[in-house]
Amino acid sequence: MTRADAEPAVAKPPAVAEASVPQPPQGHDSERGFRWFSVLIAVVAAACAVVVSMWLPFQLTPATAWTGLALLAAFAAAELLSMNVDVRSGVAWTISFTEIPLVIGVVVADFEVVLIAHLVAGIAMLAYRRTSGTLLYNTGVMTLEICCAFAVANAVRLLLGAAQMPWIGAFFGALVAPMASTVFALASIWVLRKPIQLVSALRLVGRVIVVGFVNSSVGISCYLVVSGVEYGWALMGAVVLALTALYWAYSDLLREQRDLEVLADVSLMVAKSGRRLAVRSAADPDQLGAEFADSDWDTLAERIRDQLTARRIVLRLRLGSDALHTVVAGDPLPDGEFASQDDPLLRLHGSHARQLRYADGNEEIVAALRARGADEVLVVPLRSSTELLGVIEAHDRNSRLRGFGRSDRQLVDTMAAHLSTALDNRRLLATLRHDAYHDPLTGLLNRPGFAKAAKGPVTSGQPAVVVRVSLDVFSTVCDALGYTWADRMVVVAGRRLRAVLGADVPVARLEGASFAALLCCDEQQARRIAERVRAELSTPYPIDRLTVEASATVGYASTEVEDSATSLDVDGMLQRADVALRAVAGEGDVRGYVPSMGQMFLRRFQLVTQFRQALEDGQVSVHYQPKVSLPSRTVLGVEALVRWTHPEFGKLHPDEFVPPIEAAGLIGALTSFVLDAALLRVRKWLDAGLRISAAVNLSVRSLTDDGFPTLVAEALDRHEVPADLLTFELTESGVMADPERALPILRELHTLGVVLAVDDFGTGYSSLAYLRQLPVDEVKIDKSFVFGMGTDLGDLAVVRSIVELGHSLGLSVVAEGVEEDIARDQLESMGCDVAQGYLISRPLSEKRLEAWLQARTARATGRNEAAVLTLIG
Ligand code: C2E
Ligand code: CA
Ligand code: CA
Repeated sequence: MTRADAEPAVAKPPAVAEASVPQPPQGHDSERGFRWFSVLIAVVAAACAVVVSMWLPFQLTPATAWTGLALLAAFAAAELLSMNVDVRSGVAWTISFTEIPLVIGVVVADFEVVLIAHLVAGIAMLAYRRTSGTLLYNTGVMTLEICCAFAVANAVRLLLGAAQMPWIGAFFGALVAPMASTVFALASIWVLRKPIQLVSALRLVGRVIVVGFVNSSVGISCYLVVSGVEYGWALMGAVVLALTALYWAYSDLLREQRDLEVLADVSLMVAKSGRRLAVRSAADPDQLGAEFADSDWDTLAERIRDQLTARRIVLRLRLGSDALHTVVAGDPLPDGEFASQDDPLLRLHGSHARQLRYADGNEEIVAALRARGADEVLVVPLRSSTELLGVIEAHDRNSRLRGFGRSDRQLVDTMAAHLSTALDNRRLLATLRHDAYHDPLTGLLNRPGFAKAAKGPVTSGQPAVVVRVSLDVFSTVCDALGYTWADRMVVVAGRRLRAVLGADVPVARLEGASFAALLCCDEQQARRIAERVRAELSTPYPIDRLTVEASATVGYASTEVEDSATSLDVDGMLQRADVALRAVAGEGDVRGYVPSMGQMFLRRFQLVTQFRQALEDGQVSVHYQPKVSLPSRTVLGVEALVRWTHPEFGKLHPDEFVPPIEAAGLIGALTSFVLDAALLRVRKWLDAGLRISAAVNLSVRSLTDDGFPTLVAEALDRHEVPADLLTFELTESGVMADPERALPILRELHTLGVVLAVDDFGTGYSSLAYLRQLPVDEVKIDKSFVFGMGTDLGDLAVVRSIVELGHSLGLSVVAEGVEEDIARDQLESMGCDVAQGYLISRPLSEKRLEAWLQARTARATGRNEAAVLTLIG
């Protein structure tokens, strides 16, 4: 029987807690509604009681009091004995046995007696459970229940005219009573404006009917047996049978429910382990995929074993690596390895469960079962769309009476589907993560991977050192041999790095042939390790039949070095190590970062950002250094050299600011500025009747800019300067960087009539054949050879051969860095055409150049009737 009684619900039908209604807040509208509803129920109940009591006769006999007392006791007992059946964790189904005394009462007693017994027992129970707040409502409902029971019982009796079987009416009456109270409970839920789904309401009614039916049957059969009716025992047997059937149905329901729970648990566990894996791999991406929490899988296997009541569960899972990982729950596996590759249970097709019995298997299967020491095995492969992810095996049911059944197979099937999906997702996640944090070529970490791995140690406060390694020869190998070779070199370098540093050190390939590693040690140790790395990576690389000579540059930065210029995070540390690496570049040594290095780079960074503004503000100007012909000493031209007077840093050397500006892509603005100034200068000389040319230095970048020749032509036009009074100086390495692009541009410039000179000749490739192919008119011997000429016979030989080579190619030869008379004389005797250097003049501002020309040269009429300036003294 159902009745509102348990706290805190006002109208909670005890039969099914799902429909329970929380207590409405005080003073709430719905609570007021409920009060009115209670009053209404009470009034209707009272009216019904009056009608029913007038309809049915009442006889007071000596037995009446005893019957009443017995019923009272029975009702109280039925209420007290009400059971909470756990259907699902958290939701209880309360079954009371009130229908048993009710059905007996309807048969043996009068309406009034049953009503009073029921009310007294019910109210006492409410008081006992301290749920007085709903007294009016519950009294009304109890009264209505009894009214319904008696009315229905009497109606059925009248309808069937079955006086000899009065229990049939009682049975129906006792069944209707709890339904009535359930309807009222639902109505009160509605009054309280609590949402309840139709499905839940129907399920509630259904359960009330089932419980009512069982209780009424038990009550009736007890009555019949006691009253000695001949078919009493038969009926009792029928009831027991029906109850057993019900139990089976119910246990199936429970089973289904618990199966679902296990499935949910399985998915959840795998998902959780996947998430933990993700977190762990984020901290240490190198360790990804290799490990997992054993305890998780143990719990999982145990859970499955529990549900299947199997003697043993064996999970074989492919996690990360290719080997199958075996997890066993229950009896340990018999000794001896049976999980060999040709185990038939590991080679099953499809992904559905098989039930294999010792009795009816083929030879192979029998052997496999024997190896497992099992009579019966439930086995299902776990598969992704492409591969076998594992196998679930259940060995022998614990109860020998019954083997694995259909529902067990179903469970294992569904579980396999869940587990496969979860495992597949987990693998996918691991692969994605691995790819996101690793360099595909070397298998080392990539930049984000390194950042993640190094973050903890760098910020931990413990000493940590970031080492950067760069293979100097890399770009050359790329150019000369192609990327495949360069890639092979990088792979070998990565392997050597790993070998020197060991498996536990995070090592990354950042880009190209640039590597980084994180050492958790002090600076001294780091230096020793860095030196070993340099030595190891500088040994020649045998690739196929070639041996590539390479040199590695190593820079490192320690967290122990105090510095405010860069932040103390992974990026900052990488930057510092990079600064140290650049500071060392060319020297083939190992350098640790010191803050002054950082200052230098910080300054360069500032210069780049300030450059455009500096151009506008007039901080940038052009100086000119004269070039004179040998031996006549006439001033042929000037080299335009840029100067920057910085408001904060003072006079800046072009070697300091030109490379960063070039790297930042701002060189175009600089070149245009210098070109304009130089052409303006030439124009002024032309206006004064002098043909003096100007040389402008070109950067590599200008030689990759397709629009550059047009720009030059326009500038020449604008200043009305003949092209042959403009020289461009370019370095060999500049042309060699990207000859495919540079050559057409050089040809275009040459077609314009501009003079092209190879600057710093002798320092780069110095390939004769190559020089022959370039459309150049002039070579400038690098000043380092000119400086050394007086003391170094080697240098002298170089200068001499360049002069001869230049002449043989029909080029004009210029020597720069002429500081001494003797050098000039030697050059003159070798036949060098032009000299430039401090001996003649330092680079001068425009104003001082004019003054210099005035003071140091004499104007004369040259060959083509044009005026020339010749150096005096
Ligand atoms: P560079 O093209 O080799 O320029 C010659 C450098 O040698 C100039 O240095 C000049 O002052 C110096 N020099 C000339 N004669 C002597 C000498 O007798 N003894 C010594 N010790 N040095 C001498 P500067 O002006 O400092 O320029 C350095 C470099 O900056 C230049 O080398 C050039 O590569 C670059 N540069 C200068 N101006 C520009 C420019 O407008 N554009 C580009 N792209 N680069 C420029
Ligand atoms: Ca130059
Ligand atoms: Ca030079």
